[in-house]
Amino acid sequence: PTVERIDVNDMIMEMVEFCEQRARYANVAMEASLADDVAEVEGSASEVQQVLLNLINNAIDAMDPGGGNLDIMSRMEDGVVAVSISDTGCGIPQANLQRIFDPFFTTKPVGKGTGLGLSIIYGIVHKMGGDIAVKSVVNRGTTFTVRFPAAESSE
Ligand code: ADP
Ligand code: MG
Repeated sequence: PTVERIDVNDMIMEMVEFCEQRARYANVAMEASLADDVAEVEGSASEVQQVLLNLINNAIDAMDPGGGNLDIMSRMEDGVVAVSISDTGCGIPQANLQRIFDPFFTTKPVGKGTGLGLSIIYGIVHKMGGDIAVKSVVNRGTTFTVRFPAAESSE
């Protein structure tokens, strides 16, 4: 895929809009807190969309049924672009944490999950020179944080 410069905040807002209907239907209140000094990143726009979309959809799934809060945050952290996606969902048991990035690992019913989302995200983020981390507390919620290297400034 072609490498382009991506405005992460713009892309977050696009993905929030894209998921708004599903979130409303699932009783999920989505909120974005975006820092205004976030640098551009370099990558394939459709791949970065996939990363955000998969994380948002996993978060909504984790709050089913009943819904909850989904907060998306962007900020600069030691010169890299950090995006966090937090949910107030079911959480991930300790025993599963080291397996969630494995291809085909899923806890969803057959037909609902392929178990490929996080492994694809992992590949995309690492190809871009970034990384992905997860913090989770069972029955409280989960935060995924993706870090992307900032693009060379064009000025
Ligand atoms: P899938 O969504 O098809 O199951 P993923 O690779 O996206 O596959 O996720 C793998 C597994 O990781 C999920 O089945 C679920 O158990 C766990 N998981 C991912 N995101 C979350 C989350 N936000 N909250 C709770 N569990 C999660
Ligand atoms: Mg998924």
